[in-house]
Amino acid sequence: MVVSTAPEKKVLVVEDEAHIASGLRFNLEADGHSVVLADTGEAALATIAADWSNIDLVVLDVMLPGIDGFTVASRMRTQGSLIPILMLTARGRAEDVLDGFEAGADDYLQKPFELSILIARINALLRRHAWHVAARENANTRPPDVYTFAGKTVDFDAQELRVKNKKYPLTLMEANLLRYLVQHEGKAVSRKNMLEEVWNLREDTDTRAIDHFIARLRKYVEKEPSRPRHLQTVRGVGYKFVAAPK
Ligand code: CA
Repeated sequence: MVVSTAPEKKVLVVEDEAHIASGLRFNLEADGHSVVLADTGEAALATIAADWSNIDLVVLDVMLPGIDGFTVASRMRTQGSLIPILMLTARGRAEDVLDGFEAGADDYLQKPFELSILIARINALLRRHAWHVAARENANTRPPDVYTFAGKTVDFDAQELRVKNKKYPLTLMEANLLRYLVQHEGKAVSRKNMLEEVWNLREDTDTRAIDHFIARLRKYVEKEPSRPRHLQTVRGVGYKFVAAPK
């Protein structure tokens, strides 16, 4: 008898190609998850609106009838949903990857994909998200997981950045990227390292994806995002976080 210690997770699969959707359902269920299917973006948003607290992850195809996957992701984020999103993009369309991250996706996989790789990515994303949720729930019994610099507070438990009276919700990957940069305070880190350490992406990913995340973080963190002082560009390398710039 196989005893699984991981609690069952509910995955919303947004995919209009029935054979891919049913293949995903079969394999995710075999892996111990429960699955809800939606074949349009509109149906996905309706499902999330009705059942948001029970959905642990969204697998989101870009090419859908009606509104596309980018629109679904950005509407979810605008509505304050921080559910992890794994986006399915078309191979050879680097701009899809960038648009996906820009819209709020946490990870992506190009079609056609190996099912085993998709399942591994889904489980990795669920694990990372579970750490955040557990950290949030244990927040009362241990020191808060916060980082303060220059009058700003990053609350990793709440997944938000607080600047004066304003709160900016952070997606999982925004929070993870910020944590990685903070952990390397004052040191230049390369885009490649960020992709490997934060996203677990080892294949040839377009590293410009990182630039979109940095641009978003700068909007929250910098007084003048076009003249960054905390999230500095290091030419030819990547970026450097500086807590107290001179
Ligand atoms: Ca499709």
